[in-house]
Amino acid sequence: MLDSRPPSTVLNYYNAYYCPVCRHGEISALPLMEAFSCNFCSHIFTANLDKQAITIVDSQLPLTWSWTGKRWQNIRSVQRFQWGYRLLALGFVVLPTLVVAAGAYLFPVLPDSPLAWFSWFWVGLTFLSHLVCLLWLILEYYQFPLSLYFEALRDNLLSRLSSLN
Ligand SMILES: [Zn+2]
Repeated sequence: MLDSRPPSTVLNYYNAYYCPVCRHGEISALPLMEAFSCNFCSHIFTANLDKQAITIVDSQLPLTWSWTGKRWQNIRSVQRFQWGYRLLALGFVVLPTLVVAAGAYLFPVLPDSPLAWFSWFWVGLTFLSHLVCLLWLILEYYQFPLSLYFEALRDNLLSRLSSLN
């Protein structure tokens, strides 16, 4: 979808840029409005050309990205909390897994019992379920259009298969 010409190094209403949300579509200015819209995920952004930044307006969180001349930089992630959130996310996945693994290690099941595998299976399941919760939270936070992404992937595969025949 992205144009082959390089994006402008300065944020303005006359050029198109890749979308900072889906990273698949292209955002360009809406006619007669001082706003950008993505042609893939349909998110709408308001622009602050003085600060070279855009803010998403159709999301619960007012995420802002600044244009560095080559790529978008999430302003919120540059600011405080970044390490706090990362530690919290790591703890959310690792701590419950460690608690369940400690139980499986300290109180081992008799090796010849029929469900001896279950305690370590439960450790893996704890890790996976907490990881899925975390990934879902990240996708929600960034408003990533997962269904549109898979739709585009499927269309891409189908067009490749039909060109083979
Ligand atoms: Zn988009």
